[in-house]
Amino acid sequence: MSAITARTRVAGVAGAPVRHSLSPLLHNAWLKAAGVDGVYVAFAPPQDGFPAFAQGLRRGAVAGINVTIPFKEEALAAADTASDLARAAGAANLLLFHEDGRIEARNTDGEGMLRALAAQAPGFDASSGPALVLGAGGAARGAIAALLEAGAPRVNVCNRTLDRAEHLAARFGPRVRAWERPDLPVLDAAVIVNATSLGLGGGAGPPLPWDRAPAEAVVMDMVYKPLRTQFLIEAEARGLRTVDGLEMLIRQAAPSFEALFGVPPPADIDARVLLLAALEAGG
Ligand code: NAP
Repeated sequence: MSAITARTRVAGVAGAPVRHSLSPLLHNAWLKAAGVDGVYVAFAPPQDGFPAFAQGLRRGAVAGINVTIPFKEEALAAADTASDLARAAGAANLLLFHEDGRIEARNTDGEGMLRALAAQAPGFDASSGPALVLGAGGAARGAIAALLEAGAPRVNVCNRTLDRAEHLAARFGPRVRAWERPDLPVLDAAVIVNATSLGLGGGAGPPLPWDRAPAEAVVMDMVYKPLRTQFLIEAEARGLRTVDGLEMLIRQAAPSFEALFGVPPPADIDARVLLLAALEAGG
């Protein structure tokens, strides 16, 4: 980050809580390396105050914000226009505040997940078989929308609260089915995604009958604290290929950065090394 001036372009991330977010560290490192006069900060609107917060940013107070738990659905509702993926997901992780007053919603979570799969499980093809998504929150919505767009023949959604999974199945249509337990859909899964918050902070991930998972299934965990979650450790013990949430975090941040600051992230920053150091330091 260079000196802040009257011309500095401001963007950020909004969530509750948000103080743990690694996004400011990453985006500010990219800004500095790219020589962009910009700054990326964290906003913590009150739990019940996101709509007022978003409307207050109309007409260019800030260029845009990433949106995290628990505001992704409200972010979409606050927007005037939305990308196909955000609309399909019913959730947005990026709001752009255009100078004409329009608020545009996008969802880069699903794109980040697919890019992470491509990077850490080369050759993985979402159209090769059904997906099993564990969880039915904001992150799951983005994952389902992206998997369907990438050609997954079916997406099985399994959630503690079955109602929420059923709601998503109804929303996305016949290619999506809701489950309460993952026993059956694990049998033919080409990819298994943990989109719950289970495992965050080092606890157990969602329980899966690993011995029934196909040997060629790819397993992805959106949780990245710790980097090697119990879920990924169990998948590896079964001999499955794994993809971590840190890669997804970086890969969803890249299109956000470009949309917010008008240039792609510079190639000379190793985002993974940067964020791993922050995670090890307890960031
Ligand atoms: P969310 O909207 O709050 O959804 C949380 C999900 O976790 C729900 O499906 C919830 O089930 C489930 N869950 C929570 N506690 C549970 C428990 N004790 N047992 C079983 N299920 C439980 O959160 P989100 O935005 O979807 O995020 C989910 C996770 O993905 C978070 O850890 C987040 O940090 C991570 N994430 C990572 C990235 C990345 O770039 N790596 C991006 C987005 C999100 P119920 O419906 O039953 O409550």
